Amino acid sequence: MTAATIESEVRSYCRDWPVVFDRGQGSRMFARDGRVYLDFFAGAGALNYGHNHPVLKRALLDYLEQDGVTHSLDMLTAAKQDFLTEFAGRVLVPRRLDYRVQFPGPTGTNSVEAALKLARKVTGRHTIVAFTGAFHGMSLGSLAITGSATKRAGAGVPLGHTWRIPYDGFAGGQISGLTLLDTMLGDRSSGMDLPAAVIVETVQGEGGINPARATWLADLAELCARRHILLIIDDIQMGCGRTGPFFSFEHAGITPDIVCLSKSISGYGLPMSLTLFRTELDVWQPGEHNGTFRGNNSAFITAAAALNEFWTDSKLEKQTAEREILLDESLGELTARHPAHIAASRGRGLVWGLAFRKPHMAERVARETFCRGLLVERSGSVDEVVKLMPPLTSTDQELAEGLGILEQAVAAAVAG
Ligand code: PLP
Repeated sequence: MTAATIESEVRSYCRDWPVVFDRGQGSRMFARDGRVYLDFFAGAGALNYGHNHPVLKRALLDYLEQDGVTHSLDMLTAAKQDFLTEFAGRVLVPRRLDYRVQFPGPTGTNSVEAALKLARKVTGRHTIVAFTGAFHGMSLGSLAITGSATKRAGAGVPLGHTWRIPYDGFAGGQISGLTLLDTMLGDRSSGMDLPAAVIVETVQGEGGINPARATWLADLAELCARRHILLIIDDIQMGCGRTGPFFSFEHAGITPDIVCLSKSISGYGLPMSLTLFRTELDVWQPGEHNGTFRGNNSAFITAAAALNEFWTDSKLEKQTAEREILLDESLGELTARHPAHIAASRGRGLVWGLAFRKPHMAERVARETFCRGLLVERSGSVDEVVKLMPPLTSTDQELAEGLGILEQAVAAAVAG
């Protein structure tokens, strides 16, 4: 058996990018055969600060050198204490967020499962309202609130206890999910029981880079508060500065009841995830929701270093806001140049999508970018969107280089 034959058929990214990577630095990945790739994928949002950031790497190496505890479930460790102090001081207190921090298992879906379980426990209700196009993870609770038919089909059991409504802009914006929800809840004969929570992404990443309007998010928050439904923001992909501010909901001026955070929270690609919730929602019994890998101390070390490196001032946030304008302009021009093929460009901060009219064109463009040394993935209901998610720490030159390659790739794909 070789490495090539032993891995399950379930593998996916390595099919699109059939090279063996062995190093990563900043915005670049290096393959064993000597080829170099500009990484506009960024670990699906887990590498907002790029590969092996030197400050984070130093902190991790120092910790390992001194035989720092690597595994500890939820025992008290110096690494955990330091992370919690940094997180409170750099993130929660400046934003006046009175949240408790729960360490669920290490991946995003663990954070979502904890959020759903807590919302149900607090309210004594079981239905969760989720949106068209949503992606929340692959474990059964998260899958039940995920939209994708392909992903849902893998569950093998009925996925229930979910009420699905249109996301902002769904079907050209003709149907208002919020009006539907409010109207149904207001009618005693609608047959709709009061849900425990609404869960939403501020920008749907896997759903095809669909940014919700700030006013829509504020209306949703108002509806939830008025009807005593908990509001969960899944900030797993869009948090940690991806859209500009640390949390992607800040621009809407809302305070969710529960927040899911993972991917870039460790800053280094190490598995780590958090579920945050208002203090009065902390009704957990000790050990009621646990897991072996909640205390990823190596991740706590890099997470604290990342907060200290990037979130002591507003430099990164401002830079991302400037780059939003740059990407909006240049992708808008690219879209205007190919109206027969590209339906729209959309995004926020440093997450952007080029929505193609035909999925095979998006596939072709992604293939052409790979041939030219740029990694981009696709998303959307039929993978029709080419998704750009460069590290937030990319240089101006790297951004220009990636956009240049993308333009060439689109031209090559269009030429057939
Ligand atoms: N929620 C969102 C918004 C995500 O984008 C993802 C992953 O892409 C998840 C949840 C699941 O995270 P994980 O794959 O770490 O379980």
